[in-house]
Amino acid sequence: MAEAKKAAAKKPAAKKSAAKKPAAKKPAAKKPETKKPEAKESYNICLDVGGTKVLGAIFNEKDEIIYRLKKRSKSGGSESADVEKVIIDVVEEMIAESGIDRKKLNAVASCAPGIIDQDNGIVLFTPNLPWRDYDIAGVMRKKFGVPFYVGNDVNLGVWGEYHYGAGRGYKNIVGFFVGTGMGGGLVLNGSLFTGHGCKGAELGHIILDPEGPLCNCGQRGCLEAFSSKQGMSAYIRQQVARGRTSTMAEAVQDGVFRSKKLVRAFEANDRVAMEAVDRACHWLAVATGSMINTFSPDLILYGGGVIEAMGDLFLKKILEEVDRYCLPQIRSTVDIKVAELGDDSILYGDLALIKGLK
Ligand SMILES: [Zn+2]
Repeated sequence: MAEAKKAAAKKPAAKKSAAKKPAAKKPAAKKPETKKPEAKESYNICLDVGGTKVLGAIFNEKDEIIYRLKKRSKSGGSESADVEKVIIDVVEEMIAESGIDRKKLNAVASCAPGIIDQDNGIVLFTPNLPWRDYDIAGVMRKKFGVPFYVGNDVNLGVWGEYHYGAGRGYKNIVGFFVGTGMGGGLVLNGSLFTGHGCKGAELGHIILDPEGPLCNCGQRGCLEAFSSKQGMSAYIRQQVARGRTSTMAEAVQDGVFRSKKLVRAFEANDRVAMEAVDRACHWLAVATGSMINTFSPDLILYGGGVIEAMGDLFLKKILEEVDRYCLPQIRSTVDIKVAELGDDSILYGDLALIKGLK
C-alpha cells in the first residue's frame, strides 16, 4: 500500500524552493554542479519542534532513520530568532555528529504548532512559540542551501501515520493528538484537509460543554480543556485544592505533568489521576462519536505523548463508551487505533512533505 502510494506520488512538489540540490528522485532540471555523479545517496533531515523539546532524524533514501537526536528546548517567552537558532543548531549538530556529507543533504523539514501556510512555508500564527507571519522556509533555505518545508505539527503527525504508520490503507482518517494541548488532523478522500487558510481541523476546540472548564482558546468546555494534559492537570489541581491527595499534586502545581508521571500515578492506584483519565477518555469518546457521525471515516487515530505513554488504556476506555455516541451503521465501518509511529509520527510526516507524497 505504502509502496503504491509512494510510486504514485513521486513528485517533489512544486514548491518554490531555490532547489540547489535537486530532490534525489527527481530526474529533471539537474544543475550540473561540481558534484560527483556516483555516491548518490542523499539524506533528509526531519525535525519535530515543540514548545519544550526538539526531535530530529536523518533519513536515508530508503526512508530509514540513520541518526536521531532529542533535545529539550526552552523557547517559551523567547524570540523567533531563538527558536530559529535551536533549529539551526540541531541541524548542524546532526550533520556533524552523524558524519553525513552535508553536500548530500537533500532537504530539511520541520513542524511547528499553530497555523501554517504549508505551500509557502510561512508560520502564520503559533500559540506556544513566538512566531507571527514568519517566513521560516525562506530563512532556513538561505541558511542550509537546500529546500526547507514546514507544516502544522498535528497535520504532519496524521500525514506521517497515513503514509508510513497506522493509517496506511485508509482514505479517511480523523486523528486526535493528545499532548499538552489537543491537536486534530483530517485526511479526507486521501488528502490532508486543512480548511480555509490552513486554519481547520481544530478538533481540540470542539465545544462539548459550554459551561465546562475554561479552555486556552477562551471558550469553555472544549475537548482540549477535558482531555489534554492541560485539562487533566487542571482537574487534578482542582481536586487537590479541595483537599484530596494525589501523587501528582506536585507535578501539576505549576503547569502540566509529564506523561511518565501519569503512568506512575496509575501504577500507584492514584484515585484522582484515574478520575482525570476517565474524564479525559469520556470526553474523547463523545468527540469521537461526533466525528464518526460527521465524516464516516475509515479510521479514528489517537496519537501524541499521552497516547504514546498510555495508549492502550486510553483506547480501551474510549472503546467502552464510543458506541453510545454515534450511529451504529456508521460505527460499524470505522477502525479505531492508536498511532504506530509513536514519537516519530511527525518526523515521518515531514518526510512525506519533503517527498511530496499525496
Ligand atoms: Zn478551546
